[in-house]
Order: sequence, then structure tokens, then C-alpha cells
Amino acid sequence: MPLYDYECTACGHVFEVFHKIDSPPDDLACPQCCAKEPKKIVAPFRTQFWSNFLDTMEKKVNPHKFK
Ligand SMILES: [Zn+2]
Repeated sequence: MPLYDYECTACGHVFEVFHKIDSPPDDLACPQCCAKEPKKIVAPFRTQFWSNFLDTMEKKVNPHKFK
């Protein structure tokens, strides 16, 4: 699963959450002040990093798919 950055709209705390693409958990809340509905931070570099990382992992698991 990709890693996403969220910023709390109440206290400004930034935290990271693993979840499926476009389906954040319903009970997502700030770990610092427990405010609901934090703002998603778009981080293209991190998304690209994770995409490359997952590709590398898949090559190790299923090398025949990349030949
Ligand atoms: Zn907060």
C-alpha cells in the first residue's frame, strides 16, 4: 500500500498513513489532537519513490514478469 502524508486542519501536525489508493480509512484522525478529516498532502516524490520501491520488490518476488 502507498504511504500518504496528512496534515491536521486543527493543529497542523503532519503524519503518515498507509492506505489503498483513493480510499483513506473512515476513522482517519490526527494522532496528536484526535481531530477528524485531516488534509491530504500531495507528495509526488514520495509516490514515485514508493512506486519504484514496490516495483523492485515485485521484481524480486516475480522476476519472470519483467523479462
Ligand atoms: Zn491535530
